[in-house]
Amino acid sequence: MYEHDVLIVGAGLAGLRAALESIDAGKNTAMISKVHPVRSHSGAAQGGINAALTDRGDDWKDHALSTIKGSDYLADQHAVEIMCQEAGENLIELENMGVIFSRNEEGKLGTRRFGGQTVARTFFVGAITGSAMLHVLYEQTVKKQAKVYEEWFVTKLIIEDGECRGVIAMDMHTGKLEIIKAKSVILATGGAGRIFEPSTNALICTGDGLALAYNAGASLMDMEMIQYHPTGLAGNGILLSEGARGEGAYLLNSEGERFMEDYAPEYLELASRDVVSRSEQTEIDAGRGVDGCVLLDCRHLGREKIEERLGYLQEVATEFRGIDLAEQPIPVKPTMHYIMGGIKTDESGRTNIPGLYAAGECANVSVHGGNRLGANSLLDTIVFGRRSARAAIEYVSTVKTLSKNKTELNNETKRIESLVNRTNGERSATLRNEMGVSMTEGIGVYRDADSISMAKNKIVDLIKRYPNTAIDNKGKVFNTDLIFNLELGYMLDVALTMCIGAEERKESRGAHFRTDMTERDDKNWLKHTNVKKKNGEPIFYTSDVTITNWKPEIRKY
Ligand SMILES: Cc1cc2nc3c(=O)[nH]c(=O)nc-3n(C[C@H](O)[C@H](O)[C@H](O)COP(=O)(O)OP(=O)(O)OC[C@H]3O[C@@H](n4cnc5c(N)ncnc54)[C@H](O)[C@@H]3O)c2cc1C
Repeated sequence: MYEHDVLIVGAGLAGLRAALESIDAGKNTAMISKVHPVRSHSGAAQGGINAALTDRGDDWKDHALSTIKGSDYLADQHAVEIMCQEAGENLIELENMGVIFSRNEEGKLGTRRFGGQTVARTFFVGAITGSAMLHVLYEQTVKKQAKVYEEWFVTKLIIEDGECRGVIAMDMHTGKLEIIKAKSVILATGGAGRIFEPSTNALICTGDGLALAYNAGASLMDMEMIQYHPTGLAGNGILLSEGARGEGAYLLNSEGERFMEDYAPEYLELASRDVVSRSEQTEIDAGRGVDGCVLLDCRHLGREKIEERLGYLQEVATEFRGIDLAEQPIPVKPTMHYIMGGIKTDESGRTNIPGLYAAGECANVSVHGGNRLGANSLLDTIVFGRRSARAAIEYVSTVKTLSKNKTELNNETKRIESLVNRTNGERSATLRNEMGVSMTEGIGVYRDADSISMAKNKIVDLIKRYPNTAIDNKGKVFNTDLIFNLELGYMLDVALTMCIGAEERKESRGAHFRTDMTERDDKNWLKHTNVKKKNGEPIFYTSDVTITNWKPEIRKY
């Protein structure tokens, strides 16, 4: 019997932080993860985590304003206030747990300046910040003997009388489906980058949690807000962290000009990511690119700084392009990186389904609105991972009985058996490629009604073809063919909500830039877009943005 008070799907930073909180409160807690926890995508985060530390004269209100401006005023301001106010305390707590943040000359925690910020308030561990944080939080959960269903894959949420009561999951070692009962479930399943090709995201970022929640009746919010990172490596899209520009690297066009002087005279390369990515794309489209890219130039930083502060980037540059950053600029281009949208939650991770919570990249609180600032996502995972666990713990005490569900496990087992037994169908890889290419083309850095409708038609077509796909591997043990197929189903559901959001938002705001409607329209569109499933069909609606202290202004960098 698998039974818990708090079941956390995902063991990246949001999941681990939630688990620690729940274990410390004495709750029967478990995490479930389709990969070993330290292989979660959080481990790929390079650049850092933001916090305004008051002891050095920084002010959380300035961090909040930068975040809100970065969001193009779409973030809910009360949630941003919470995140920025709680940042310092969370950062110090991480340090005390053992995250060895890089230090400055005075021996104090060091900072670098990240995009869209007025001052340097990004704390970092060289260029391996995420990995350092992930390992420390994982150690803490090991110390507390946390239960982890490791390499288990969740296929469905159990909803009874409108409340979430656990999950159905496959033990990937045996292929067997089990029911895991819980009084509350926290989704911490990360992003959905692989809907696009290329992407900076790991192959496991397939939006599973978003689709699980959506199919259970939760709302997905602002799904059209897709972040393209300005410095994805030419070709495969591997990320070269914003830390490079934070340390002073330039962006150059084919004429050798620092073109950001024309687009963001004050912030230059450190304008918000949507602004920098659009500027790059404009240069490339105007014929001032280099083989469809622009150049990231670190040469003037000197070898010592590059190796000390940007060691991981140097490794990537050498291994994938044979480039020594101290000698040569490297070609980069805007690459899909992050989803600002996600499962709609309040500031304690509550979704519209009682007992179901969400935190981290899969959730939309919303602190990032139309555009996330670099190094605010790691912060989001920690602050809201902890808060969602606190809310779940409180809720658990009101739940008297566990699920008695029997039919759901049978239904899921039959559904998956029929997929495995199916012969003669299209391969999921074919559909996955078509999806990736169409989404990058249609919901790109620039988009318009035609491109959006092209992408949407494609996704609708793929959704029709998906039930007839077949897999070659009929085995039980680590059937990755089967997992890829199930992930494709999730990605298609999520991609459709992205297309609907993009189609409906009739303005340009943040990362959603429509060449057919280039202005931000606060009168009609200072609103969140939401998509929810009803009777098997997506329903669209809008909801209000919370404004507290900061009135929307024109955004200039
Ligand atoms: C290359 C890269 C660099 C980045 N750099 C930074 C940075 O410097 N600063 C910053 O603030 N942000 C950065 N980000 C963004 C940030 O890292 C992520 O948004 C954040 O780490 C997500 O954490 P998470 O806990 O929400 O999810 P993840 O770390 O992605 O974890 C998701 C978890 O869910 C589990 N899971 C998913 N689906 C299932 C399923 N069906 N069944 C079971 N388990 C499942 C996975 O196994 C995993 O454990 C970066 C992102 C990338 C891709």
